[in-house]
Amino acid sequence: SIAMSAAKRAGGGRYAIFDPRMGEAAAWRGTMEADLRRGLANGELHVVYQPLVVVRGAAVRVLHGVEALVRWDHPVRGPIPPLEFIGVAEEGGLIDELSDFVLNTACSQFVRWRHELGAAAPGLLAVNLSRAQLLRPGWIDVVRAALKEHQMAPEDLQLEVTESLAAQHEGVSSLLQELKSLGLSLALDDFGTGYSSLSSLHALPIDTVKIDRSFVSQSDSSSHHRALIEATVRVANSLGMTTVAEGVETQAQADVIASLGCDSAQGYWFSRPLQAE
Ligand code: C2E
Ligand code: CA
Ligand code: CA
Repeated sequence: SIAMSAAKRAGGGRYAIFDPRMGEAAAWRGTMEADLRRGLANGELHVVYQPLVVVRGAAVRVLHGVEALVRWDHPVRGPIPPLEFIGVAEEGGLIDELSDFVLNTACSQFVRWRHELGAAAPGLLAVNLSRAQLLRPGWIDVVRAALKEHQMAPEDLQLEVTESLAAQHEGVSSLLQELKSLGLSLALDDFGTGYSSLSSLHALPIDTVKIDRSFVSQSDSSSHHRALIEATVRVANSLGMTTVAEGVETQAQADVIASLGCDSAQGYWFSRPLQAE
């Protein structure tokens, strides 16, 4: 059962062989769940923001927006990466609380920047959406309420869904449509890593395609990856969607993805995720 939940965490529909380290991991997950519940209550979680910059036709790279990324500073273990605790939150019934915290913190911060910085403030706030969240009944009302409470213009909010999630469920497309009817936009995260393909892009109510780091990181060394990025940009644009290159780490990659027609980019080359200040 430990191996089975490891397989489920890895996205389901796959095998996992029991490994003694999973036993340890399972014990730690049990503690982690309790720790996370306490951490949420004690304010151990916070949100950092990674800039998205416009690269298309821009000699000077302008700030386009920010992506909100959750952080947990465990009092004993130190910083724990989100990929290690989001699954725990999903399995332990804490994902609603965690997600609502991120959404509300990020919206409130975004609006504060608007007031403080005016035209220099980020123009778009991107927030990640987990699968458990999207499938939760009434979640759309949570988004509506957050927009209203923070008096945030819906068009300034972009929700990021992963490819596997978007492709997985029959009903997901109509849920996404319903979200979009609030006036916000949707991005397809980690594009290229999942099951769906260029040919299925048109079926999704998506505004922006985020090209996964695994393609971008090879864009300066592999013509194959360049061709894949170019094809993605072309198909996305033909459907009226914009593109973001994720995980740009070098000047060379930044130049390549700009020359391939990506609209914006994100990555350590431009900035690491930053504290709100
Ligand atoms: P993601 O949505 O694909 O977020 C981008 C991840 O890539 C972030 O990792 C970011 O720090 C990292 N990154 C950005 N630029 C670079 C780069 O140039 N090189 C490399 N190597 N990495 C880069 P992070 O913050 O550890 O988040 C990991 C994943 O956890 C996210 O992947 C997202 O799937 C999930 N996540 C983070 N915050 C949240 C959240 O608030 N809610 C949900 N549901 N998921 C979240
Ligand atoms: Ca994301
Ligand atoms: Ca991503």
